[in-house]
Amino acid sequence: MFAEIKGLNEECGVFAIWGHKDAAHLTYYGLHSLQHRGQEGAGIVVTDGEHLKVHKGLGLVNDVFSPDDFAQLTGHAAIGHVRYATAGGGGFANVQPLLFRSQMGSLAIAHNGNLVNANSMKHQLESQGSIFQSTSDTEVVAHLIKRSGYNTLEGQLRNALEMLKGAYALAVLNEKQLMVALDPNGLRPLSIGRLGEAYVIASETCAFDLIGATYEREVEPGELVIIDDNGLRSTRFSGSATRAICSMEYVYFARPDSNVDEINVHTSRKSLGKQLAIESPIEADVVTGVPDSSISAAIGYAEQTGIPYELGMIKNRYVGRTFIQPSQELREQGVKMKLSAVRGVVEGKRVVMIDDSIVRGTTSRRIVNMLREAGAKEVHVRISSPPIKNPCFYGIDTSNSGELIAANHSIEEMREMMGADSLAFLSVEGLKKGIGRSDETPNCGQCLACFTGEYPTEIYPDTLHPYAKV
Ligand code: SF4
Repeated sequence: MFAEIKGLNEECGVFAIWGHKDAAHLTYYGLHSLQHRGQEGAGIVVTDGEHLKVHKGLGLVNDVFSPDDFAQLTGHAAIGHVRYATAGGGGFANVQPLLFRSQMGSLAIAHNGNLVNANSMKHQLESQGSIFQSTSDTEVVAHLIKRSGYNTLEGQLRNALEMLKGAYALAVLNEKQLMVALDPNGLRPLSIGRLGEAYVIASETCAFDLIGATYEREVEPGELVIIDDNGLRSTRFSGSATRAICSMEYVYFARPDSNVDEINVHTSRKSLGKQLAIESPIEADVVTGVPDSSISAAIGYAEQTGIPYELGMIKNRYVGRTFIQPSQELREQGVKMKLSAVRGVVEGKRVVMIDDSIVRGTTSRRIVNMLREAGAKEVHVRISSPPIKNPCFYGIDTSNSGELIAANHSIEEMREMMGADSLAFLSVEGLKKGIGRSDETPNCGQCLACFTGEYPTEIYPDTLHPYAKV
């Protein structure tokens, strides 16, 4: 993935397992396969039926855990989390799962998504005496659970969920039970699998493949799943709402080998590329895609047009995040260190360069430049999603509107700024058709808010951009 220089980042990945003697190890492997969803921090909380034990830290999963750490992480159930680095909300205090200990027992929470009423809930809770240790909206959930008058975790969590607005795929663990819940719009993906007798939950199905688990079903929007020694039980905490799964999971975030809500991500990306070719064909010699997330769409575009797909750009996989420096000059260098144009492929050619999305536009400009420096005769940019004109409040860092190039410029202005010979985006209709969801709602059960400005939930007056933390 190309996230840290594209300016488009997923916030988190969640994994959970119940009923396996190697719960912590399997969670570790699960988190590895979800690493693309967050690289700032990782953590695991495990229960042995009596106590919750935690290990977490800043960095990649590999950096956070050493073999010795697993000696104390014994137990039959665990939850794990990988977190993306937010501009103002980083630091160890925000690394999840968050663990809360009290006289009544302990509680751990892992959350993917973003609550749109977290700020108002936080102000309300603070005025009633709550003290927060982190800037994470997930801590609000813990306070709501602990303040509810119910005496079972199920009652407490259900009560809390009824007050939350926004996007959440949650895993909650105490000594005796694992609970998972998905917001009423199902904005974020969350799947259930089985590994022998054990139950497994993951943000993406690629985590099941890695540990040898089999896919069972999706967690439904508004569903609360309770897993304990009696097995799995499903209840609902919310009436029906319109499904609005994040379109960007298909376009960019999820791994191509994952199925999101039962649709394979590579297949949907390829079909987005085909749709783009139908809408915006061009005469050219080669089609190439920005690695890794745009390659599937580039293959689809090539298949539809009959123009050969070539490896016009390659990614240097061994450059770490630390190379990305804030100064403009070093940023330019950072892109070159991450990507190279293949001169032997593009020299003297008319190139169609497929990218999955444009956020600030700076990366696209650098890539067009790079292809020209490598001898491309023409560079035609085709984007396999519509222009991103609105911020996301649901856990994706699409920057604020001021930084979104498509919110402030026409397509012709953008073309000129990036120095391309032509530029075209996929239409919103093309996106819906390309992803291939058969949901019979007007938006095919997808959130399209960053393209259309029509948010599936209420946006509260004090909803801040999630990265402008209070
Ligand atoms: S606004 Fe865009 S990025 Fe955010 S959830 Fe909706 S589709 Fe996904």
